[in-house]
Amino acid sequence: MEIIKEINKDILAKDICFIPTMGALHKGHTSLIKEGKKSSLPVMVSIFVNQMQFNDKEDFNNYPKPIDEDIKVLENFNIEYLFIPENDYIYPKNNFEKVSSGNLGKQLEGSSRPGHFDGVLTVVNRFFQLINPKIAIFGKKDAQQLFLINKMVVNKEYEIEIIACPTIRETTGLAFSSRNSLLTNAGKDKAALLYEILKSTKKDFYSRDKNNLLENLSSNYLDTEIDIDYLEILDLATFSKPTENTEEYIILIAANIENLRLIDNIDFKFEDK
Ligand code: AMP
Repeated sequence: MEIIKEINKDILAKDICFIPTMGALHKGHTSLIKEGKKSSLPVMVSIFVNQMQFNDKEDFNNYPKPIDEDIKVLENFNIEYLFIPENDYIYPKNNFEKVSSGNLGKQLEGSSRPGHFDGVLTVVNRFFQLINPKIAIFGKKDAQQLFLINKMVVNKEYEIEIIACPTIRETTGLAFSSRNSLLTNAGKDKAALLYEILKSTKKDFYSRDKNNLLENLSSNYLDTEIDIDYLEILDLATFSKPTENTEEYIILIAANIENLRLIDNIDFKFEDK
């Protein structure tokens, strides 16, 4: 594994399978790497904690950055490149393209985290321009991010195949997340409720009048110990309210637990109960 801080011409000339991360690697990240290894391409993992996507400076400062442990984890996977750029390389003064995430970027996660998705799209776009990967791999865990990245790839006519990987969970159902390491054990127990709520909302979806169900979903869970920011069922293909033409649904949840913001989602076709 070659650790690089910049992309040189030789690397740019290669067809790369690219997996961006913010480090503090866990089984969700390593599942993406395993998927990348299935391609016959050289795999590049990046670790860059992108300050531009943090609307809260304290959140950025507290974000775990265990770089030595991450390098050890990656050494087990026989990847070709670990890209750890400096901030100035990604964001040269006044010389990079800022990407807007539009209306959807202001909703759901974007509503509580203004500017978050503009920061995400800007850094992903910058990576795509620097690396010109053939394949890029992302997790469905960050569903709104994935949707916006797919949209950006279409808008900008990038010839990059985006592979979406399923969410990896602990046995409790809690989705792996770098932020989980900041939770106490009691917090982790509460956080496992997110997946329970997603599953029971899906169950309700089959048994109740849909128009009623779609409104105020989170009011069903006011008495739980977690502070739900949103719980919504959307059309997976459009990320807007389902219609009679909807084929695949996504239920999204965000909650604050021990001052941390956690998100999760499940997607499904109507027939797969
Ligand atoms: P992050 O380091 O949080 O920016 O995540 C890097 C990539 O890993 C993103 O594409 C995430 O969607 C993905 N990811 C994060 N958590 C999980 C998980 N539990 N399962 C699958 N993919 C994940």
